[in-house]
Amino acid sequence: MYKEDTDGQEMKHSQIRKKKLKVALITGGASGLGESTARLFLKHGAKVLIADVQDELGQSLRKELGTLDIITYIHCDVTCEMNVQNAVDLAVSRYGKLDIMFNNAGISGVGGLRAIDSDGDSFKKVLDVNVVGGFFGAKLAAQVIVPVRKGCILFTASVASLLCVSVAHAYTTSKHAIVGLAKSLSVELGEYGIRVNCISPHAVATPMLLNWLVTSEKRKIEEIVLRNGVLKGTILEAADIAQAALFLASDEAKYVSGVNLPVDGAYTVNNQTWKIGLMEAFI
Ligand code: NAD
Repeated sequence: MYKEDTDGQEMKHSQIRKKKLKVALITGGASGLGESTARLFLKHGAKVLIADVQDELGQSLRKELGTLDIITYIHCDVTCEMNVQNAVDLAVSRYGKLDIMFNNAGISGVGGLRAIDSDGDSFKKVLDVNVVGGFFGAKLAAQVIVPVRKGCILFTASVASLLCVSVAHAYTTSKHAIVGLAKSLSVELGEYGIRVNCISPHAVATPMLLNWLVTSEKRKIEEIVLRNGVLKGTILEAADIAQAALFLASDEAKYVSGVNLPVDGAYTVNNQTWKIGLMEAFI
């Protein structure tokens, strides 16, 4: 997959050919974390298929990123198994194989944060996209990569998979479920040499977050996250999640499977109550 070595030096063409370029399918790849990952994977020589429901955005990104021999956009609603099947089939028919299935599409859901303000339909919708969509992606990709016994499956979970951050219940439930699904798959598919992992980002100012929060100003959201975060002096960006995906999808991570990798600057290891109250009792 890599076009550059770890020092950022260009590899010789013969070396690149030997490493055999990888093919990645990224759901929710038209925007935010998925878009950033598509850009990085392409930069590292992968062939990428973006699957999303935002057709205009996806098509214009496709045109910006390159010709059809390296990048393709396909309309794909991950809640529709046939749509996901078409996306997997297209990856294989156009690029010859599928090495990396990145189940990244997700929604935050609408409605109040409190359970008593929420309704069952919006709860189900979030689980449908975030969990069932990911399951379809994993299942259909596995049908292609199991026979060749080489490939990996990634999911975008969230810090909401590791703790409750007072976000909507459906979202937290869905992200916990994704990790369970990934762990379960890592055991079944490990039998065939296939790795399955999750990435759990802290808040990144993508369109999903901008539409979800009370302010849609990117700078303001980044300020809130910076203030709230444990790791100071740096802002989490979509490109940082793409780097985590690149590592997990690479051969350098050949023995990494069944992992939920937080990219959260230690946010989920911090006990907020300690910070707020208990610390004073010790000092
Ligand atoms: P985003 O809105 O920028 O991107 C999500 C993409 O998913 C969009 O392009 C959207 O069209 C697509 N999508 C939504 N429903 C779909 C469906 N049914 N079928 C196919 N595509 C669909 O948001 P993002 O922040 O890049 O989110 C990507 C993933 O990262 C999500 O799973 C999200 O839950 C997760 N995540 C985001 C953050 C954050 O702070 N941004 C933090 C943790 C986890």
